[in-house]
Amino acid sequence: MKVLLKPNLLSARLPEDGVDTHPEVVRAVIRLVKAAGGEVKIGDSPGGYHKDVFEVFEKSGMKKIAEDEGAELVRFTSSKFVEGFPIARQIFDCDAMISIPKLKTHIVTVITAAIKNTYGTVTGLYKAECHSKAPREEDFARIVAKIHSISRPHLNILDAIVAMEGDGPSSGILRNMGIVMASTDAVAMDSCIAKLIGLEPLDVLVTKEAYAMGLGEADLSKIEITGDDIKTFDVSNFKLPQTLPIKYIPRGIANSIASLVKFRPAIDRSVCRRCNLCKVTCPVSAIGSDDKGYYIDYAKCVGCMCCHEVCPYRAIGVKRNILTKMVWG
Ligand code: SF4
Ligand code: SF4
Repeated sequence: MKVLLKPNLLSARLPEDGVDTHPEVVRAVIRLVKAAGGEVKIGDSPGGYHKDVFEVFEKSGMKKIAEDEGAELVRFTSSKFVEGFPIARQIFDCDAMISIPKLKTHIVTVITAAIKNTYGTVTGLYKAECHSKAPREEDFARIVAKIHSISRPHLNILDAIVAMEGDGPSSGILRNMGIVMASTDAVAMDSCIAKLIGLEPLDVLVTKEAYAMGLGEADLSKIEITGDDIKTFDVSNFKLPQTLPIKYIPRGIANSIASLVKFRPAIDRSVCRRCNLCKVTCPVSAIGSDDKGYYIDYAKCVGCMCCHEVCPYRAIGVKRNILTKMVWG
């Protein structure tokens, strides 16, 4: 079979940064597929505007393991439109796809694991544009779940050996968890992960939408877990994103005070290296630059946090206004 491996390659970061799926996990999967007689390709469409995806392959360690193990690297540049979404052609050209997500927190979707990894099958900047088309979290979660229904992998293998907690997916804190999880059902996998880190499965809107679409099981009593007992893993006090508490405010109240209680990105100019990635990625052209450095036009910003996600130098933080701090400290 022609097997496509789809790791989470968010950006051109080193393996030890914990932003991308670790190359040694991908190497192990390549070996298993080849031992079973498969031909292996590895592909992804990184976040933001990457003219050179091969820079991501190189820095993330994918190029080296592909050379070592005899796998082919493929760029997700050519797309096929399915239900209005440009999906990488390689998804339809392979016999089987194995998704290899990394467990990280995410300041917009709470976590990024199995379901969200297939969002990377959307090509180019359309991923960022979806945020401007669906600024409400529920709407964006529905899009992520819809794309998962189109690019549904045959198998998901989660790299949670070193996970990311806090304000992921690129600026969080690394956490040794020592977990590898595998399932044909991404919804079941994300539901188990949510429970492990102190949430209920449907607290994660992407899981809730995917479950509602019938894409998998989120009822923990119906999920069979084999292998090591999950109670033996230390996942206590897992730090969730600081943006999470807003999700627990009743929707009616949240809507009425939405203009007052909010988070927004903030550029730290002393850390910014003027790489321009945030500016070309912003779906509403809210980021500009002048002699003093990069700045955000908050009148245009839709709060998608794509800039925070793609900044390779952790120069974009999450800023909370005074009312937000008063509500949950
Ligand atoms: S804030 Fe980050 S992404 Fe934007 S220009 Fe500076 S270093 Fe690059
Ligand atoms: S400035 Fe950042 S958060 Fe605001 S719209 Fe642009 S990418 Fe999204």
